[in-house]
Amino acid sequence: MRLFEGTQFDRPPRCDRCGELETACTCPPAPAPRIPPQKQTAKLAVEKRARGKVVTVVRGLPAEGNDLPGLLAQLKSACGAGGALKEDGMEIQGNHLERVRHMLSEAGYRIRG
Ligand SMILES: [Zn+2]
Repeated sequence: MRLFEGTQFDRPPRCDRCGELETACTCPPAPAPRIPPQKQTAKLAVEKRARGKVVTVVRGLPAEGNDLPGLLAQLKSACGAGGALKEDGMEIQGNHLERVRHMLSEAGYRIRG
């Protein structure tokens, strides 16, 4: 039972942002809070994959504190290479350790590897 239920103060819950009833609200979900890059350490590695493929791997940046799809897109275009989001991080095709290290440190991340 809600406070003031049945009284004139008993109003159905409304969205804080658009003022619509929560059932009618179409606001996008609030963006996830970002962790400042300065407080994160990206762990870089170059690893071999099947059939001799080499990939540059970035780990240690949690998806809930970073715009990983955006970051990956920047890395891919800077490296001129394909890449993918993985469960434990990001993968860029080829050995781009220097470029990835440079880009991430420019963005403010601490780097290991
Ligand atoms: Zn809303």
